Amino acid sequence: MRRPDLTPIVAVARDAAAKGFGRARSAFREHPRIGGTALALICVGLLIGLIPSQRDSEPTAQVTALTLPEQQAGLASAADPGNAREDADSLIDKELRKAVTSSSDDEAASTSISDWTMVEVRPGQTLERIFRDLGLSARLLHEVVNASEETKQLARIRPGDEFAFDLDDEEGFRSLRAEFDEESWLFVERAEDGITARTEPRALEYRVVETQGTISTSLYRAAQQAELSDNLTMRLANIFGWDIDFALEIRAGDRFALIYEQVWRDGEYLRDGPILAARFVNQGETFEAVRFDAGNGPDYFAPDGRPMRQAFLRAPLNFTRVTSNFNPRRFHPITRQVRPHNGTDYGAPTGTPVWASGDGRVTRSSYNNRNGNYIFIQHGNNIETRYLHLSRRHVNVGDRVRQGETIGRVGATGMATGPHLHYEFLANGAHRNPRTVDLPPADPLPDDLMEQFRATGQPLLARLDEVDQSALMLASAEDGCSQSSDDC
Ligand SMILES: [Zn+2]
Repeated sequence: MRRPDLTPIVAVARDAAAKGFGRARSAFREHPRIGGTALALICVGLLIGLIPSQRDSEPTAQVTALTLPEQQAGLASAADPGNAREDADSLIDKELRKAVTSSSDDEAASTSISDWTMVEVRPGQTLERIFRDLGLSARLLHEVVNASEETKQLARIRPGDEFAFDLDDEEGFRSLRAEFDEESWLFVERAEDGITARTEPRALEYRVVETQGTISTSLYRAAQQAELSDNLTMRLANIFGWDIDFALEIRAGDRFALIYEQVWRDGEYLRDGPILAARFVNQGETFEAVRFDAGNGPDYFAPDGRPMRQAFLRAPLNFTRVTSNFNPRRFHPITRQVRPHNGTDYGAPTGTPVWASGDGRVTRSSYNNRNGNYIFIQHGNNIETRYLHLSRRHVNVGDRVRQGETIGRVGATGMATGPHLHYEFLANGAHRNPRTVDLPPADPLPDDLMEQFRATGQPLLARLDEVDQSALMLASAEDGCSQSSDDC
């Protein structure tokens, strides 16, 4: 049974602030583009109740970050500036591929610097000063900084930057190593024909980590005990948010288990990678999800190949309130006539992002006196959605859009008394109430991918079983302790 009820982010943020983890799931569910850093920001925002002011800022990650782990990897170049982001998951995918293709080279290339002189830049310190302190000449510094395009950045160093120098008592400078970017070192070396520079990949390591927790008070608390970051906790809730209402349905004794990646660099933890598989047991009902790329970027699927997400968002924006419901006999405030209200009016500030409620193709993107700026999207299953009174339109006729992509902005254009989105949902040409219509499930994985999906999923699901079993045994052992202290 899938729960289509989705609550807007604003409400969510407030609720979450008030009730702990609360309704956060709905927020992330509603906007299916959550990823990495922004998610972290949002999580922090949620926890301290700051979200509403954060949410609309663009085009950085806030909006686009709200995603189900990237089914949109291929869409990053779409028209919406909100899409021009690099989601943490897809970034990691890229790194993963890189690591896979170059890991053997990395080891061969890694330069041993164990006996080099390490220098950490202090406030106010310049590279010139560092060179002088090491007895290296200004001329050498000039050569080093001008050795290549890359070495020019050495002219701008910051406190905390770390340099490693390979110095020889007789020859003086042999080479230095600086951090070039997150993934590479910059080496500058004395060669026969002068000073040369090269970059070398840093050893990024991807560790598969598993953890589990049992809820006694809140998911948030249980996640903390399982040492899950807020970001990862949100992503976990995000995966199961279509099925579980994290505000109303969580009970003591609910438990979770997950397998995820951690990215380590130079032996230090850098960040969390994607969740590879997860299980959530809610009031005795077990939900499982496996990360899998069916060709549109990674997404989460139940073990039977059914997507965890639904084909449509219940509401295509983060609304403040419903200002007018679907009503076949409604007295129109402007025309002062009884005529049907074929959609739902969602009140929201002008500029609020409006999302495509499902994958589809734009069939209208235009303006008229009644609708103002409006967009129609044709989806599969003979479903059409319509978005009226927009202040801005971000898509054109013919554009393919993905669920959660920002297609326009709330406004009050056309016949509107104030900023709101008039949203219509049509099935086979007939208007349906967007708030109550049965939303169709997303398409399951095609048969020809199921074998590959099972090959990916089965080992992970088996591992989840073990992790979960160990949690259960732990829990029952603790119960035993509390009941009969003799055994403990
Ligand atoms: Zn309306």
